[in-house]
Amino acid sequence: MEILYLIIFSLLIIILIMAGKIRSLSSDETSLKKAIKEDNQIKITNLQNFEAILKAITDGIIILDRRGNIIFSNKSFKALLKVDDHVEGKHFMEVIRNIDLLDLVRSAMNKMEAVDKEIVIRKSGIETFLYIKVIPHIGKEGEIDFLIVLLQDITKLKKLEKVRQDFVANLSHELKTPVTAIKGYAEALLDGAIDERDNAIKFIEIIKKQADRLSDLTEDLLTLSRIELGDIVIERENVSVPDLVQSVIEIFNPKAQKKGIKLDEEISIKASINGDRKRLVQMLINLIDNAIKFTEKGFVKVMFYKENDGFILSVKDTGIGIPKDHLPRIGERFYRVDKARSRELGGTGLGLAIVKHLVKAHGWNFHIESQLGEGTEVKIYIPSKDVREI
Ligand code: ADP
Repeated sequence: MEILYLIIFSLLIIILIMAGKIRSLSSDETSLKKAIKEDNQIKITNLQNFEAILKAITDGIIILDRRGNIIFSNKSFKALLKVDDHVEGKHFMEVIRNIDLLDLVRSAMNKMEAVDKEIVIRKSGIETFLYIKVIPHIGKEGEIDFLIVLLQDITKLKKLEKVRQDFVANLSHELKTPVTAIKGYAEALLDGAIDERDNAIKFIEIIKKQADRLSDLTEDLLTLSRIELGDIVIERENVSVPDLVQSVIEIFNPKAQKKGIKLDEEISIKASINGDRKRLVQMLINLIDNAIKFTEKGFVKVMFYKENDGFILSVKDTGIGIPKDHLPRIGERFYRVDKARSRELGGTGLGLAIVKHLVKAHGWNFHIESQLGEGTEVKIYIPSKDVREI
């Protein structure tokens, strides 16, 4: 019996010891978890790491003390405002020269609340648009502890916005002329002109011409938007240059003959181009159409030749040429030297923009050379890798 009591007593002692171990083990685990947690917190709030994060941010950041002295600034701020490397410790008025930005910081200091504004900086003719936000940090005593100034470069965004606005304005203008004409002549017909046979035919012809313009415009716009949306896939194949040129020249022969212009080809190398046949035809159609439109006498020539490391497919004419100051903008949507003349000739102002996009979609380059009163050559540069000599 005594032995039995002894065994039970020993077992109880063992159980108690085991329980104690388990508890201490689990408390060890929680303190480990805590340690990890604390370590993580240290990593985030560690000043040096925090500074590294601020420095790496691509927006400009400056932190000012309540008197306006710069405590911290990152690289992007210095790059955006083109200021010295060592600005820390200086007063912001010594460093920042832009009046708008200075006013904004002062305003945040006076109002003791966040303020924001878009400003423009002009340096050597280049405009940079910045979105600025100044956020004062108010301490427990109700005074400003420090101020954070954030600068965001919104130049690209502004440019895109301007392109969109210009496009809508141009498009509305382009649509207005044919729509007004169609409406006016249809009303005149309804008002009685329909009974005067000669006039009626003239009016209906005008309506038809303007409707054709609308149709061309819609088609060009659709093509452009499809290219810009990436909906047009470039399906490459080996396109024989002589065949390609011949097929397009055939389309324009009657038009050229009617104007008394010689439409010719000059292919100095027999080759095939690794490109999209349909798109190549479209490019040449647009270029030859322009060349014939803007040439009164002489010739229009489709050329293919070697230049430097690559090849040139071009359309050359002896037409009116393009004034030098217009050249950089030719190829922008709706940009024309003479708007009225272009419209009169049935142009949409989108032909070269389409060519430019199609050339780019192939990974090629596009360039215009022109002499006022002497002629124009629109060149498509094709790298050697996309040309196979036959
Ligand atoms: P469109 O011909 O419909 O006006 P494009 O985009 O094809 O539009 O051409 C834009 C402008 O570029 C034309 O209005 C014209 O001012 C100029 N241009 C293009 N090709 C020629 C050329 N071969 N000779 C002279 N000017 C040209």
